[in-house]
Amino acid sequence: MGIRVGIDLGTTYSAVAYVNEQSGKSCLIPNSYGEVLTPSVLCFKPDGQILFGQDAKNEQEAGDENTASFFKRSMGVELFGLNMHGKRYNATDLSAILLSKLKAEAESGLGERIEEAVITVPAYFGHREREATLEAGKRAGLHVQTIINEPTAAALAYGLNDTAVGNTIMIYDLGGGTFDVTIARIEQDCVTVLGTNGNHALGGKDWDDRIAEYLMDELLERYDVDIYDDWEARSTLRVLAEKVKKQLSQRQKINVPMNFGGVRCSLEFSQEIFKEISASLMLITKDVIDDLMSSIGITWHQIDGVILVGGSTRMTMVRDYVREMSGKEPLAGVHPDEAVALGAAIRANMEQTAVRHSLPAAKTKPVLSLKGAKSIRDVTAHALGTIAVSLEGTSYINSTIVSKNTLVPASGTKTYELVTGKRPREMDVYVLIGEYLRPLDNDIVHRYVISGITPTKSNTTRIAVNYQYDANGVVKVSASQDGRRGDLPVRIEKVPEDMNWTDENPADHFVKDISIMLAIDVSGSMAGAPLDMAKKAVNDFIRNISVTAPQTRIGLIGFAERAKLIAPLSDDYDALMYIVNHIRIGDYGALTNEQPLTSAYNALADCDDAKYIVVLTDGYWFDGADDRGLSAAERCKIGGIEIIALGFGAADENYLQQISSMKDLSSLTDLDNLRSEFSRIAQVIGSTSSKINKIIT
Ligand code: AMP
Repeated sequence: MGIRVGIDLGTTYSAVAYVNEQSGKSCLIPNSYGEVLTPSVLCFKPDGQILFGQDAKNEQEAGDENTASFFKRSMGVELFGLNMHGKRYNATDLSAILLSKLKAEAESGLGERIEEAVITVPAYFGHREREATLEAGKRAGLHVQTIINEPTAAALAYGLNDTAVGNTIMIYDLGGGTFDVTIARIEQDCVTVLGTNGNHALGGKDWDDRIAEYLMDELLERYDVDIYDDWEARSTLRVLAEKVKKQLSQRQKINVPMNFGGVRCSLEFSQEIFKEISASLMLITKDVIDDLMSSIGITWHQIDGVILVGGSTRMTMVRDYVREMSGKEPLAGVHPDEAVALGAAIRANMEQTAVRHSLPAAKTKPVLSLKGAKSIRDVTAHALGTIAVSLEGTSYINSTIVSKNTLVPASGTKTYELVTGKRPREMDVYVLIGEYLRPLDNDIVHRYVISGITPTKSNTTRIAVNYQYDANGVVKVSASQDGRRGDLPVRIEKVPEDMNWTDENPADHFVKDISIMLAIDVSGSMAGAPLDMAKKAVNDFIRNISVTAPQTRIGLIGFAERAKLIAPLSDDYDALMYIVNHIRIGDYGALTNEQPLTSAYNALADCDDAKYIVVLTDGYWFDGADDRGLSAAERCKIGGIEIIALGFGAADENYLQQISSMKDLSSLTDLDNLRSEFSRIAQVIGSTSSKINKIIT
């Protein structure tokens, strides 16, 4: 049987810990250098070999450009990618490689196989970053039991101290690339997180950058050496800046030896200057803390102590700030770089203890007597909401259903008003993670479609939407309609790539119902394969619409020498498909001497739905039908009827464009693509129907 480890996958350094069976204590596993911290750096060699840790960091310092570091900052960012010898790696790929190396090294260090792991992430990580971390773990061949928040792991490690019980503590976690602050209560058997807040884009690297910028400015001012555009010199300077920063954690003042642009010199750098140039960064941490304390209603008086976690808390200014704010020395007894992995290892073995306790002792290995807390109660690091129309009806907003910092498992319900129209309706519930009012400023993680909503006489109904958020960060959505029993059916659909409509005015999207006239060319040239394919395409279209916009009515017109209504507007989709399948060539003459737009206009004119005409033709329209078509198209456009014209065979693309109003969807195609073109049209028409609810409070 293998062991369970905790992995701190850090921005700059990573660490792996396990629980010693004899002592029940969590311990770090040294790497091949005998160090417990391994730099989170990879170096890709031309022969395909991938170096990691200190070896990769050495190559980076020697100027090898094929190195990757700080990729944790880009977890879940789709656009991020690094090219290494012609191959592209995103942050998940890089993390997977690093994790597999850490796993292999820890296994050989311990002489045991790693069975399961708990990986830590900054509390502030959103859904995408968490998913990416889980995926990286899986690809590294790890069975990831769960991911937990870094500060929570640190609190677990601190809970090992006997004096900690009953304390409310703050975990100030400033790493290489992220900042998190968490307030937790340590009890005998349980650590309860009261609240958390953070900034995903702030870390030690920003302090390095401030030093590097300062040194660059000094070089220019004093020695007229300009390295602003010199990539190599700047990267050397950044490495130097980090060293300067670390040295300054021990001393008040240092002399920095510089050798750039042919100039050798020494620049003085002091604690005061450092504090001054990075004052705005410290202020950001202060704002994050103030926000958290006010949101959970806690003051500094109620905090028994502050644990410093993350390498960057070694900076003197951080300790000074914490001392000033809390009026106490930061808590001792937890190592800033080690606490997170140690806590993760405790978490990895919690269930094992629980399970073993419940089994008869004789049948199992000796019970692992884990020191410290045996359970965690964590909070939602972000609010969970959905897209709704604001009360005034003027914009789409993020309507919060579960507030940030709610104890997990968390749940919440909110009621929304929905315009039902005349036919059964569906409602979209987009799950948003984040606190921003504008929907696009949050993570849009799921789209749930609620169906089976019954139309009402008043045209509106109330839908109660319920969110359940479990310890693994999974959101479950359910909904019920006012006055009706039981839950409505819910299905998951892909979140559309283009969500920019949420920035538009909802009034432009309020489509009560949709009416579509399909006008199919049934002239002689359509006989055989063209008509067969047209029937298939139209059937697909009807099926598609019935799913994406079930409040749609469809009618059918056939045209050749005459134009005739084959089926009036109806939402009996099965009957429509039956009629489509029985269309025959010859019933309306052989040539295309008549256009369908006048008949279609007449069929649509009286209804106040959103109106569309979709024309399919395979040739020219003769005997003035083309001119009559143009003027009928004009009337349609004035009457608010959208026209989409598809052609194939001998149809004239120019003419199709002239009669159409939705020109992107109108084109000349071929038989093979007819079905996909029709599906595309169905999707676009379907998506214009607003299924978004109106918020009521
Ligand atoms: P972590 O992400 O927790 O591994 O933290 C790494 C960050 O801590 C990096 O930005 C390091 O430069 C920084 N760091 C490590 N040691 C020190 C030190 N002695 N003084 C200041 N910063 C440090």
